[in-house]
Amino acid sequence: MHDGAHGSFSDKPWINKLAGMSINFLGANVFMWKTKHNVVHHSYTNVDGVDDDLNARPFLRLSPSQKKFRIHRFQHYYFMLTYSLLYLYWVFFTDYKKYVTKKVGMVPIQKMKLSDHISFWGFKAIHLVLFVGIPVYMMGWSQWLVGFLVYSLFAGLLLTMVFQLAHSLEETAFPVPSPVTNSLEDEWMIHQIRTTANFATGYKLLTWFLGGLNYQVEHHLFPKISHIHYPAISKIIKQACKDYNITYLEHEKLRLAFLSHFRHLRVLGTA
Ligand SMILES: [Zn+2]
Repeated sequence: MHDGAHGSFSDKPWINKLAGMSINFLGANVFMWKTKHNVVHHSYTNVDGVDDDLNARPFLRLSPSQKKFRIHRFQHYYFMLTYSLLYLYWVFFTDYKKYVTKKVGMVPIQKMKLSDHISFWGFKAIHLVLFVGIPVYMMGWSQWLVGFLVYSLFAGLLLTMVFQLAHSLEETAFPVPSPVTNSLEDEWMIHQIRTTANFATGYKLLTWFLGGLNYQVEHHLFPKISHIHYPAISKIIKQACKDYNITYLEHEKLRLAFLSHFRHLRVLGTA
């Protein structure tokens, strides 16, 4: 889905479109995803107020420029609970919010064609039939609820953790635009390298399971190249970073990336 929506899954546009649309069957809308992810997240990575991935207000403080509330003192204890709600919140609330406000955060979405409107509502209905209607009919409400919650909460947690371990760390930067020019200090590639980190890239099974999302540095520099090429590209980028004295962010182990994210949240909540 992620590669397809970026146009990097196949050299045939219709296959990319089909792969991207697989997210629709899970209840989220690919049109909204393309604005939120391909446009907003990839262009303004870690820029508070624009990058929608940083917005978990008021529950979590994910960037130093966000306002701190008393509850954030405990955020390193409950962040996984909040993350697990992401999928439900996305499918049943934020997609509709984007649809009604015609915006992702502060960024306007492209004008929706009639076919986009039909696709939005049609797939939302298909999702409800597939994931609520049929299972409830077959098994009853209580069994459905247990199964649906296990799957939804796990999906939310997994998806959020993958993106947080790549961007929301002690080491990653949270650039703030200049108040005078309203522009960002670093040029685009440097901005991507400073705000993005790789994790556990030595684990091939994990790389396969995550669709290459543990190679986020390479992905952010070359989002239109298929993730199967990232291991080879990463060697070149690492060398280029060395040559130009730029820090290449990476955690070799999943555990170390998780701990960095945990400490990042603890500092943002308490300091
Ligand atoms: Zn992407």
